Amino acid sequence: MRKLRGIPVSPGIVKGQAFVFHSEEVFSFPFSSIPDDRVPVEIARFEDALTLTRAEILGIRKKIYAQIGRDHSDIFNAHLLILEDRTLIEDVIAIIKEKKTNAENAFATVIQRYFKAFSQIDDEYLKERVSDIRDVGKRLLRNLSGVPKIEIGDIREKVIMIAHDFSPSETATMSKEKVLGFITEIGGPTSHTAILSRSMEIPAVVGLEGIRDAVKTGDTIILDGTHGYVIVDPDENTIEEYTREELRMTQIITELEKFRHLPAETLDGRRIVLAANIEFHDELPSVISHGAEGIGLYRTEYFYLNRSDLPSEEEQYQVYKGVAEKMSPNPVIIRTLDLGGDKFLSSLDLPREMNPFLGWRAIRFCLTRVDIFKVQLRAILRASAHGKLKIMYPMIANVQEVRKANEILLECSQELQREGLSFDPDIEVGVMIEIPSAALTSDILAQEADFFSLGTNDLIQYSLAVDRVNEKLAYLYEPTHPGILKLIKQVVENAHRLKRWVGSCGEMSGDPAIAVLLVGMEIDEISTSPLMLPKVKKVIRSIRFKDAQAIAERVMGFQTGGEVMDYLTLKLKEIAEDLIE
Ligand code: PEP
Ligand code: MG
Repeated sequence: MRKLRGIPVSPGIVKGQAFVFHSEEVFSFPFSSIPDDRVPVEIARFEDALTLTRAEILGIRKKIYAQIGRDHSDIFNAHLLILEDRTLIEDVIAIIKEKKTNAENAFATVIQRYFKAFSQIDDEYLKERVSDIRDVGKRLLRNLSGVPKIEIGDIREKVIMIAHDFSPSETATMSKEKVLGFITEIGGPTSHTAILSRSMEIPAVVGLEGIRDAVKTGDTIILDGTHGYVIVDPDENTIEEYTREELRMTQIITELEKFRHLPAETLDGRRIVLAANIEFHDELPSVISHGAEGIGLYRTEYFYLNRSDLPSEEEQYQVYKGVAEKMSPNPVIIRTLDLGGDKFLSSLDLPREMNPFLGWRAIRFCLTRVDIFKVQLRAILRASAHGKLKIMYPMIANVQEVRKANEILLECSQELQREGLSFDPDIEVGVMIEIPSAALTSDILAQEADFFSLGTNDLIQYSLAVDRVNEKLAYLYEPTHPGILKLIKQVVENAHRLKRWVGSCGEMSGDPAIAVLLVGMEIDEISTSPLMLPKVKKVIRSIRFKDAQAIAERVMGFQTGGEVMDYLTLKLKEIAEDLIE
């Protein structure tokens, strides 16, 4: 038995068989010298792989054509053209003959060359071919080498999945029915992969370096996503101990559910709006069953992931309308497309950037790709006729961005008016405060926004210069750093001065100890993953606002994030001991 520790990101205990993903480095097939008489065999293998890959692509094209139509199936024509490229084929054969190497290495060398050349071309259309080259290259190499690529969706039995990393779009394809839990070697607590695991209620541990070498597919493991432990080959005593712990946690959850229908109100009567963060519209049953009073953050970018086209206005309208209706009369804050950082769209081959979190993303992207932005704004506006919707812009760095976005929004409402389509003319429009410059100029931004929501996941990463997805820096990622508390205080004061309300929708809001601090700092709304809501509600219902204020005032004088956190944990113990994990 071995006990390993990583970063706990999604609570829950599960026991099951491990399934280890070893990433395929598809373009790196090493040189492998072959005797002369092997040359024709390697050429024949290469030609067979071409035929097989072509047949596969024709099959996919046919299926896509039948399912979603011509526009989408045509994408595969580009794949076929690559496979039929005479120069490419001749180059591969020449390398096999001249270098006396195996077909995998020869093909990988040529496709890599194409890949590099196309990546550097300064032509939008040709640049888009890069992803076709990558896809077709991978497919052919898979057929050639016989290494089957296992997709998450292919997993049949319930397993605990282990990989170097899962991207947010891969995580989005997991289902609770098949995935008991997952473990990754890299990643931090506020990476979108981690956030998704909580939303999907899949226990997870990230940042466990070397886990793929420590565990084999088929090993029995216990995953403790609450505390970050992974136990390989557990003995009988450990299994019993964890079974008892699992039961204890289930009892706590059942106990907390009693608060579901009660308001998030302190003992001395201050009401806090307790809302949920969602990524998918089908999370609504969980939102409602965990007692949320609305959606404080709808991360709409997931709508755009894992597909080869962009969602249309009608498609988005139908989904937003459904969410608005189901949550009505409670509000739903729809955050406009927050693309980039660790979330990339499959349908747009955007240039790779050195610093994606500081790059051309979120509102910056939308203000340039107004065509894409308008489709979403029109859909939100139209859906606002069916419930209480609010709009929120991500990654605002200055007031000009808010003004520009609002101009585009106005243009959309005027268009709808002309077209005779209804929408809520008084829809509230808010701004995420997640860049230090926005926090520091929140007095100016408050003049243009109806509300603020503190996106502390990014605010922490940008203020402390700590990459939120880097497990090596997780120790520096401190939500209670005095610098962060000062920024939050300033934002709340600036907003309240102009009678704007302020929410907090970063992951720290789901920590009951920190929630006490946020209440004390006079935050009006707390939004977090549905799973964390019952604990936050319990703590709010167990404190007096004036005591929370005193706690907030006290910690403002502390010098380190650690001291603040220790003090908050101590206070939480006094308020509700059972919430300490
Ligand atoms: C945040 O940055 O705190 C936030 C809520 O948005 P996201 O996690 O999607 O970046
Ligand atoms: Mg953010």
